[in-house]
Amino acid sequence: MWSMGGTDDPLARALAEVVGSEHVLTDPELRAGYERDWTGRFQGRARLVVRPGSTAETAEVVRRCAEAGAAIVPQGGNTGLVGGSVPRGGEVVLSLARMSRVEPIDETASQVTAEAGATIAAVQEAARASGLEYPVDLASRGSATVGGTIATNAGGMYVGRYGPTRAQVVGIEAVLADGSIVSRMGGLLKDNTGYDLAGLFCGSEGTLAVVTRARLRLVPALPRRAVAVVGLGSLGEAAELGALLRKEVESVLALEAFFPEGAELVHRHLGVSLPFERHPGCYLLVECGSREDPAPELAAALERHLGSEWAVLGTTGPERARLWRLREGHPEAIAAEGIPQKLDVTMPLARLGLFEREVRRRLASSVPGARPILFGHIGDGNIHVNVLGADPNDERVAEAVFTLAAELEGSISAEHGIGVAKVRWLHLTRSEADIRAMRAIKRALDPTGILNPGVLFPAE
Ligand SMILES: Cc1cc2nc3c(=O)[nH]c(=O)nc-3n(C[C@H](O)[C@H](O)[C@H](O)COP(=O)(O)OP(=O)(O)OC[C@H]3O[C@@H](n4cnc5c(N)ncnc54)[C@H](O)[C@@H]3O)c2cc1C
Repeated sequence: MWSMGGTDDPLARALAEVVGSEHVLTDPELRAGYERDWTGRFQGRARLVVRPGSTAETAEVVRRCAEAGAAIVPQGGNTGLVGGSVPRGGEVVLSLARMSRVEPIDETASQVTAEAGATIAAVQEAARASGLEYPVDLASRGSATVGGTIATNAGGMYVGRYGPTRAQVVGIEAVLADGSIVSRMGGLLKDNTGYDLAGLFCGSEGTLAVVTRARLRLVPALPRRAVAVVGLGSLGEAAELGALLRKEVESVLALEAFFPEGAELVHRHLGVSLPFERHPGCYLLVECGSREDPAPELAAALERHLGSEWAVLGTTGPERARLWRLREGHPEAIAAEGIPQKLDVTMPLARLGLFEREVRRRLASSVPGARPILFGHIGDGNIHVNVLGADPNDERVAEAVFTLAAELEGSISAEHGIGVAKVRWLHLTRSEADIRAMRAIKRALDPTGILNPGVLFPAE
């Protein structure tokens, strides 16, 4: 018999033989940081935490867990927002944090190979030192990992320009549920030899394999930047202006939106100054990047469509950082206010304005006291609906938001995934046939269901 978190657990002893006893955490105090998610909304007890240092060790850990019938929750930076990275009760947490090596940049191919536990910030820094960029960027860059962003197919600010994480993955190495290793790390841009396993693992949320290394595409650096924050009447107007700018200004990299209620929280909790004397109905942030200074072209386009009263332009590093902080500070400022429900949806671009008006109306009528704070990557139709003032487990919130997203032919998950938080609503934007096909893939690759049970589908 083993006891939860006990040193008398035979699995703990078996895993210690593989990774060393200092990397098998059974003490509740040492486990605690791995058992609670970033939002504080999701937590559960782990049987133990294991921290392999190499692909070979990860494979042996998975093999021994499979032999013992022990379920595994893979974990990277633990910044996921849908509860998929923390245990629900008694699983082994397999942390990739020790596997954080970024190999030298392959400048001929403009690619980099990194271990799963490398942070996005570390990959970005390595790329920049070679005059290149890793085009996935998100506010959690300092903690979010290569493996976690692949497992969630993370999006972030620059999806409209470069695509999500899946579009950057040119090679993958992963451990399957029986401990075998699949490796496609050649970095070939053309390689049509059967099923695209790398693409399949992107967005699989730790349910099909444990990613151990990846080869990633890099893009030329665009060192000259300009950021504008613009005040508009509504999200619909922001989406229209965004579409015009994307058409007319080649250097547009990011189009982000936020609203007075979120800007107020960022101002209050993080001390960031507001750009205008009064709030507009909706804020639009535009970032442009180029080898030449993109500011004149951006300023001219804003002048044509807007006039200058409701626009501020940042060209120096500190000015741009301050404007970005207004938008990027949202998750932190909201967390400082309380535990929110975080719902992340995509809309067809033409319906963003309608969604915004209607979601506020439906939440007000179905969940009294709910405080919606909206922001998002609107260039991609992606709106994060954060809701304070409601019990974190009050399902009426998700019901109202996801039902509306489905009615308007959007998606209930733009970039965070399904995790455990959205399992109940998967059927809203995936058909029965779709879900059957996904389950068949899961059973084929993980027949005993040890990889992240309860994520994506109800545990069987
Ligand atoms: C402040 C803040 C801002 C954010 N902004 C964005 C944003 O703009 N865009 C966006 O897409 N997301 C965003 N996120 C969400 C989060 O950062 C991403 O989902 C990120 O990809 C998670 O990476 P991680 O390493 O923290 O993974 P974790 O949180 O550890 O895990 C996430 C999921 O991936 C699985 N997993 C982790 N590592 C592996 C692995 N090696 N192999 C297999 N499965 C694995 C886990 O089991 C879990 O299901 C944000 C989060 C925060 C806190």
